[in-house]
Amino acid sequence: MVSISTLEDKGMRVAFIRGKVLTWPMESCMRDAFTLGSRIEGPYRVNGRPMQAMVHDIKHQSELRHRRLARQHYEALPKVRKFVSGMPDVQSSHDGVCSGCVSGKKTRGPFPSCKNTNNDILQLIHSDLCGPMPMHSLGGYLYYIIFNDDISRKTWIFYLKHKDEAFDMFKDFNASIESNREENQSF
Ligand SMILES: [Zn+2]
Repeated sequence: MVSISTLEDKGMRVAFIRGKVLTWPMESCMRDAFTLGSRIEGPYRVNGRPMQAMVHDIKHQSELRHRRLARQHYEALPKVRKFVSGMPDVQSSHDGVCSGCVSGKKTRGPFPSCKNTNNDILQLIHSDLCGPMPMHSLGGYLYYIIFNDDISRKTWIFYLKHKDEAFDMFKDFNASIESNREENQSF
């Protein structure tokens, strides 16, 4: 199978004329074209032996071996020769970062860009409730809850004996913040 777009990327022109696929370098003219394939009934078939058609041009042998050996680490490739008969001498040099490996190791997509229009302190509070802990504290607490201001990143922590105290704790926290703001215009 031959990719026409890859041929174009490699600087070749391609034409389908009277049951023949012709290709020639972009900088020359059609006179220099050679026949890449011929139409046999419906589909076009690549001329020549299949092995010739499968040749893929790569800059470094290490890239080819890296792909063939289940994405073996580049630094390990020269050492593989000791254990594998017929393995050519492969250097560890390669082109940049392997995109296949990057995709394979990626466990999650990027975070979406933030659409937060909040620009004042205490406008948005993040909260996290943690527990139950394996041991209660000296005061008998098993949980803690944190409140975190989105803009200032100031954080408050409160301790709870029961999980269902969380909302009451938030209401108390909110009331104290509101009263402090009215008194001091700060928190
Ligand atoms: Zn890779």
